[in-house]
Order: sequence, then C-alpha cells, then structure tokens
Amino acid sequence: MFLSLIQSLFVNFSVLVTLSFVMSLTYRSWPPPRHWRLKGMRLALTVVTTLALVLLGPVDESGLRVNLSLVPVAVIVLRYGMGSGLLAGLPAALLPLATPLGSGPLDGAAATTLSLVNLLLVSGMAHLFRWALNISDPHGSLQRHAWVAGLIFLPTDLGLVLLGGDLDVLQRSYLPCLAFSVLGFWAVASMITGRVALLQSTDAYREQAHRDALSGLPNRRQFELDLPFTAPGDALLLIDVDHFKQVNDRHGHPVGDQVLARIGGLLSDALRGRDRAYRYGGEEFAVILRRVQHSRIEEVAQRLCDLIAATPFGEPLEQVTVSVGGAPFGLWSRTRTLWDADEALYCVKQGGRNGVRILTFDPARPLRTGGPGAAPCDPLHS
Ligand code: GH3
Ligand code: MG
Ligand code: MG
Repeated sequence: MFLSLIQSLFVNFSVLVTLSFVMSLTYRSWPPPRHWRLKGMRLALTVVTTLALVLLGPVDESGLRVNLSLVPVAVIVLRYGMGSGLLAGLPAALLPLATPLGSGPLDGAAATTLSLVNLLLVSGMAHLFRWALNISDPHGSLQRHAWVAGLIFLPTDLGLVLLGGDLDVLQRSYLPCLAFSVLGFWAVASMITGRVALLQSTDAYREQAHRDALSGLPNRRQFELDLPFTAPGDALLLIDVDHFKQVNDRHGHPVGDQVLARIGGLLSDALRGRDRAYRYGGEEFAVILRRVQHSRIEEVAQRLCDLIAATPFGEPLEQVTVSVGGAPFGLWSRTRTLWDADEALYCVKQGGRNGVRILTFDPARPLRTGGPGAAPCDPLHS
C-alpha cells in the first residue's frame, strides 16, 4: 500500500517535472518581457499541469486525492501573486465535482471543499513567502531560504481536520506527499531559476560584447548590427579627435583614455531620442541620426563639434577638438554613405580640422580609393 503510494507519487513527480520543463521553455529572454500573452500562456500551462497531476494522481480508498498539483500553483503565486495562483489552481480544485473518481466519503463536494481549502492555504503560504523566494532571482534567494519551500506545503490536506475527515488517511499519505511536494518544488524552481540565470548571463555577455568599456558607448559591433536598420531620412556622422596622438604623447595614455571617455559621455548626453553614438574605433566615433531633415544634418554636426571644443577637459589638457564628416542615408547603398562620411571627414582634416562637412550622394564624385589625394575635396561636389 505504502509502496504503491510512493510509486504513484513518483509518476506524479515525473509528470510535474516534464510539464514544468515545457513551462521553463517560456522563459526565453532577459529582461523578462511584460506581456499579458506570455503570462496567459504560463497560466494556461499551469492549468494543464495541475489537471494532469490530479487526473494521474492516486486516489485513496476514502476518496482522498494525493498528488503534487499544488506545486505549479505555488510557483505561479511566487511569480505572479496569489490571484494568478488561485486562478491557475481553480480548475483542478473543482475537478472532483466533475469527475468523482473514488467511492469513499471524500468524493464530490467534500473532496472539492478540501481541494479549495488546500488551494487557499498553499497559495496563501506561497504569497506570504514571496519576499523570500524570488523565482526570477537565480542568485541565491532559493538557496538562502530553502526552509521556506518546506513551510509552503505544510498545510496541505490539514483541512481534513477541520472537515472532520478520517485522520488515518492523513497519517498514511501526509508525509510522503509533503516530501514529494518539497522535492517537486525544488526541481521546478531550480529548473526555472537555472534558465533565468542562463538568460541573465547571456544578456550580460551580449551587453559586454556590444558596449565599449572605456567610453560606455555601443561599439563597432553594435554599429554593424544597427547599420542595416537605417533608412532614407537617417544620417551618419563620423567624428575623429584631432591630433589625438599628441594628447597621448604629451600627457600619457591614461589622460588620452579619460578624454575618450569624456567625449563618449558628451555625445550620448547631447543626442536626442533614437539617435545613437558609437565608439567606431580608436579615437573615432560614429553617430546615427534618425529622421533628420537634410538641411539639419550640418547643424547637428556643428553643435557636437562646438560642444566638444567648448568643453573644459581640465589640467593638463588645453582644448580638445574634433573633425566631423557626415552623409545622409538614401536609396543608394549604406556602404556608399559610409564612404561619403569618411570622405567628408577626410576633407575636414585636409582643411585644418575642428570643423564639419556633409557630403550628399553624388554618383559623379569619384571615391578616394587610391589613397589621399586621389579625389581632392572639391567644393563643387560637397
Ligand atoms: P588626426 O587629427 O589626423 O586624426 O590625428 P590623430 O593624432 O588624432 O590621428 P592618428 O591616427 O595619428 O592617431 C590616433 C591615436 O589614437 C593613435 C592611438 O594610439 C590613439 N588611440 C587609439 N585608441 C586609443 C585608446 O583607446 N586610448 C588612447 N589613450 N589612445 C588611443
Ligand atoms: Mg584623430
Ligand atoms: Mg582616426
């Protein structure tokens, strides 16, 4: 008898773990998207899991249903609160009304009452301990507060005492059910927190891979990712620090690094809305301007150029200036825009630095493929 109860609980445990694995697959990105559809899908999956656990769980001859259906409910309470947990657990709690399985005194209405009491007590306990068990925190709340998992399931079936039921039944099944519930909770919670941990570290590594540590700006890799999403009406600026080698040579690399970090901060603070600055490489920055009127590209470029020239970088530096070359994106290739902006930057450098130049696409203008001087900065082509 005892052995068959353990066997049945083990089958229940296996079903719980299998369906919870499916549930863990709904954790797909970090930070977690706040989408009602995702929450709805998780609640629906929990309803299916709890129903399966009740239907596949053993029924004592007195009619007592022994199963782990409250485990996924507790997990939902920890994630979304008591209301959601009650909602997800209700269909399974009402199941004895629809499908009386046993023939003992605990069937039909009495079994349903007991299931509802169980649902309320376990949801309440889980809700009470939400502060301790954060299912989305893989860094320890589960480990730190392991004891809580045991407390959540303590009141299961204790409602039988209140309902004046047969306490011998409780004696037979209470401890094995509690042990399997705690074990099941641990398995499910570890599965979900493990997946969240993986998503969090992937997100952190992705962030590191796409951000420049010195300036705090998105890096060249991110620029390459964003470039295909530019459209006609957007524009590109390339910003190169003037005589930066001299800054390094005179004041040392650490001072040079500080200058780059400061310029990164100035650029990101100065840009509006969806415009984005990147550290393009070395002492070169790029800016993608979104939805900018053609006539305003130069204005924005000049504003950035003036801002940096007017910024006091502190002792021992004097003024730091930049040269800015820009070009609009259009129906021509994005590579062509890159070339044009680079060409414009080259022209500013040729013209003495600390300035701005915007080149618009002109199929007649030769590209500077043959090195400096191959295509002189002809004002007619600007
Ligand atoms: P120009 O006005 O023509 O652009 O002259 P420049 O000296 O700025 O250009 P050049 O290409 O000769 O030198 C760029 C220097 O930028 C050389 C390189 O050591 C320095 N640099 C590139 N990346 C970093 C960095 O991360 N930190 C520091 N401190 N220096 C860097
Ligand atoms: Mg430079
Ligand atoms: Mg350079």
